[in-house]
Amino acid sequence: MATSLTEPKLSITLLGAGQEVGRSCCVIQHAGITVVCDAGVHPAFHGMAALPFIDDLDWSTVDALLITHFHLDHAASLTYIMEKTNFKDGKGKVYMTHPTKAVYRLMMQDYVRMSAAQSTSAPPLFTPLDLSITLPLINAVSFATTTTVIPGLSFTPYPAGHVLGASMFLIQLADLRILYTGDYSREESRHLVRAEVPPGAGVDVLIVESTFGVQSTEGRREKEERFTSLIHRILMRGGHVLMPVFAVGGAQELLLILDDYFEKHPELHKFPIYYASALARKCMAVYQGYVHVMNNNIRSRFANNQNPFVFRHVSHIPRSSGWEKKIGEGPPCVILASPGMMQSGASRELLEMWAPDRRNGVVITGYSVEGSMARNIMNEPDDIPSMKGPPIPLRSTVDNISFSAHVDYAQNREFIEAIGAPHVVLVHGEQSQMFRLKAALQAGYKERNEHITIHTPKNCEPLELIFRGERVAKAIGTLAEYPAESGTQVSGLLVSKDFTYTLLDPRDLRDFTGLSTSTIIQKQRMCIPGITWELVKWHLEGLFGSVTQGADAEGIRTMRVMGVLDVKGMREGLKEETDPTQAESGFPGGYILLEWVSSGSNDMIADAAMALIHGIDTSPASVKLTSRPHTHADHQHEEEHPDTAPAQRLTQLMEFLQLYFGEVQFLDAQGNELVDEDDEEGLELTEPALRIRLDEQYADINLITMTVKSVSQTFRRRVEDVLAIAITTFGSLTESYVTADRSGWDGEEKFFLEGGSLENGQEQAPRMIQDAVTEVKVDDTD
Ligand SMILES: [Zn+2]
Repeated sequence: MATSLTEPKLSITLLGAGQEVGRSCCVIQHAGITVVCDAGVHPAFHGMAALPFIDDLDWSTVDALLITHFHLDHAASLTYIMEKTNFKDGKGKVYMTHPTKAVYRLMMQDYVRMSAAQSTSAPPLFTPLDLSITLPLINAVSFATTTTVIPGLSFTPYPAGHVLGASMFLIQLADLRILYTGDYSREESRHLVRAEVPPGAGVDVLIVESTFGVQSTEGRREKEERFTSLIHRILMRGGHVLMPVFAVGGAQELLLILDDYFEKHPELHKFPIYYASALARKCMAVYQGYVHVMNNNIRSRFANNQNPFVFRHVSHIPRSSGWEKKIGEGPPCVILASPGMMQSGASRELLEMWAPDRRNGVVITGYSVEGSMARNIMNEPDDIPSMKGPPIPLRSTVDNISFSAHVDYAQNREFIEAIGAPHVVLVHGEQSQMFRLKAALQAGYKERNEHITIHTPKNCEPLELIFRGERVAKAIGTLAEYPAESGTQVSGLLVSKDFTYTLLDPRDLRDFTGLSTSTIIQKQRMCIPGITWELVKWHLEGLFGSVTQGADAEGIRTMRVMGVLDVKGMREGLKEETDPTQAESGFPGGYILLEWVSSGSNDMIADAAMALIHGIDTSPASVKLTSRPHTHADHQHEEEHPDTAPAQRLTQLMEFLQLYFGEVQFLDAQGNELVDEDDEEGLELTEPALRIRLDEQYADINLITMTVKSVSQTFRRRVEDVLAIAITTFGSLTESYVTADRSGWDGEEKFFLEGGSLENGQEQAPRMIQDAVTEVKVDDTD
């Protein structure tokens, strides 16, 4: 309930994959919550340089870290972050889907072993021990199942295609919905379902990959055909086929294609297909185990007792060392070897062996990062650098048939438009591709006269988005009894819980929210010797305008100020002071008790009243007032007057003027002085007036028009000034100061504090405006 309306600012900071491909790491912050999507490494760098810019975030503040899929550029820095940063000092939780976690475990075991083996330049980022400590801390989640991490943060993974287990995350962050796609594919592959638009209402921000920019990829059928016939050709010309692949993901898809093709082409059966990865062998078990999350093709074959991942024409490499040389010098074959970008390892060794022979062919099927060997040889250079010796001539053919399961331009655009988010953030793309994609998308929106904003943030440059969107509060209980009409105002209590808002009548609070209400009654006791009830009243009226006099439930004499503050005259020993003869005798041995229902505005009124009462005994006005006998003789009987307001106001005005000018006379309409008989000749009066004297001069204030007349213009102006102050003082406060808390006040004649009522209560009567009715007598007797 204490939660205020959320900060409208959303901040997105890329610690990696900002205008680049690799080391994906996206920090999303809003409403005091921090979510990180992906924690990858950059495949073109080694050691610490491959990490995202992790120093730009206080990892202990992270609430959730979501990993979209097991590829190294999305997942491989997770162990480092969990073990080597202050992430573990916080309460952050890590999530990935079940199949992702299963493959991730195997991949990272392989990664840590490989890093240790290549530790020539940079030490490994983490040890096998770090990995085994962090693995149990990773929460595995299911597709299409919503997980609530903390109040205000929940997420749902949806299939992203791409690789086994890959998910896009629909994140509900306070009042915003954010879709982070990760790598995704809109094409159904041999084994995976394609990514679909997640169900449910609008997405506020879409964070989407842009790997292929504005490129289009060829259709699935043509592509497979081109691929298989190329392999066929290379083998028939007596060459070796090298396919550098990521150990897991794309390779499984290629093997499904090749196994099918070989099955239909017996002439190829003499050529072995090798899958050169111990890791891949292990991962195959995961693939076989997660058939249920794959597409219909796989599931129906599985239902027919055929496991598509038990290949008929694929052999594994023997685990003996030096196999690369044996295969390299052996007869023609097809080999899938990692790593996919041939920076080092088996694929690089085979490349260096086979490059000089023009019969051989390299088929690049995955995405290759700029600067990698796979990217370099696509430009068909004359020679390539060797890992050990002088450059090696490149004579073999190099083909690029992308089975990289990323969306191409048309697919990405269609998806982005289907999501319809007002903000689109492009990530995971090289700068030039990203900018071209941005321009192409913008042109499309402009053509249709639609407006969305496309962002392409760089690494470590926070993107801040302001949302002043409408917030919806549901009205429930009494407030919802009648359907609201458009344009009508509804007022109630706004209850905020986990960033949802409910509007209800305060009386329904307990029933609908389990919250209870309480009223705080403030009491302040003040002992000020030597002041009287009348003096307190006079000062209160001076500040607040009229006060209402009466008695509370226990019969204690009470003044009500501004309708909310009760000032009571208490006497020690005696509980009350009801005797009217004592009413003006002050508080001998007694004290003043202030009572009010606490609220922001009521407390202010009480504070003002207390300050005023504290100052009474030192106020010069008090001295002047108390040093004179009561001139306002009608005062103590004022309760008997049916219409007290004008009488009170007149008294106030007279008292005020007396402070400035001394004696004030009341003259009736005929100019007769009502108090003193020995009046001098005055100005001609036809209406009641107050006469003010100063030395030899006097001025009359017309009580109806509130105008001043005097033979002395100087004196007249002075009286006018004072009169203006008096009117401001008495008129403004009561009328302009509307107090917020009038609850319990029935507007009639009762005081409400502590449930008591004002007996003998005297509320200021509502001012009745009586229209003058002129009787017109029609004389119909002619
Ligand atoms: Zn990927």
